[in-house]
Amino acid sequence: AIDVEFTGATRVFTVSNQKGGVGKTTTTVNLAAALASLGARVLVIDLDPQGNASTALGVPHSADIPSVYDVLIDEFPLADIVQVSPESPNLLCAPSTIHLAGAEIELVSQVAREHRLRTALDDFLATTSERIDIVLIDCPPSLGLLTINAFTAASELLIPIQCEYYALEGLSQLLGSVRMIQKHLNPRLHLSTILLTMYDGRTRLAQQVADEVRQHFPREVLRTVIPRSVRVSEAPSFGQTVIAYDGQSAGAVSYREAAVELVQRAQRAPANEENS
Ligand code: ADP
Ligand code: MG
Repeated sequence: AIDVEFTGATRVFTVSNQKGGVGKTTTTVNLAAALASLGARVLVIDLDPQGNASTALGVPHSADIPSVYDVLIDEFPLADIVQVSPESPNLLCAPSTIHLAGAEIELVSQVAREHRLRTALDDFLATTSERIDIVLIDCPPSLGLLTINAFTAASELLIPIQCEYYALEGLSQLLGSVRMIQKHLNPRLHLSTILLTMYDGRTRLAQQVADEVRQHFPREVLRTVIPRSVRVSEAPSFGQTVIAYDGQSAGAVSYREAAVELVQRAQRAPANEENS
């Protein structure tokens, strides 16, 4: 039996890894859908100009749609751009449009350029009449101003790691950036969660990578591992998460397990007081 409850405090995660193709977007949308299926009210903020998270959540994001771009550059309220995913009334999405590709440059000359998402999210959470339990921010594969806005808005960092060679490469650069953010912009930000993705248990290499990551980060790595699965990679082309596309598939089952683990960990104790 699943034993989870949502207590009222909003947890804000940034899903980041400066490598592309490691499963950031896939993890964001499927964890979000899995959490929503457990009864959480979830907001996904799509910060990647490619808009893959918006697509997977079935949310329109053509160039004429108000988007995160308008929030960051023109100070639109987040409430004005948030859409409900057709998948679940519990699943909200602040879409990205192609305009966001220019925001990285346009932000450079703006006042409070690192805090714009934080300010918008704080306003939204303070004024919305609806409960929001979890916010997941899908980041682009770079450490530019869009990602810095996510780091400034979040308190928890979730890193998806692909179980392949070079998995740990670049991680020290990412964690170095996080320390800079902690020092100068957001002391609350901490690495709370690592999720191993695209795991192929038949290969020795995947097992070795998983072992190595667990040795480095024994407290942060979730027990649940996301397997490499065709159903997971097919789902976005139907504008769906794997939870809706094939809820019995191994990918859907493991994303639901990861969601339960994520929630139960927070209920148990703050991450820095755990000892197992
Ligand atoms: P990122 O957002 O980090 O660039 P994506 O989430 O877009 O990465 O994933 C990169 C590619 O890998 C996509 O084509 C996606 O469908 C595929 N993929 C991600 N996770 C899995 C999985 N568990 N099984 C199979 N394919 C996956
Ligand atoms: Mg992505």
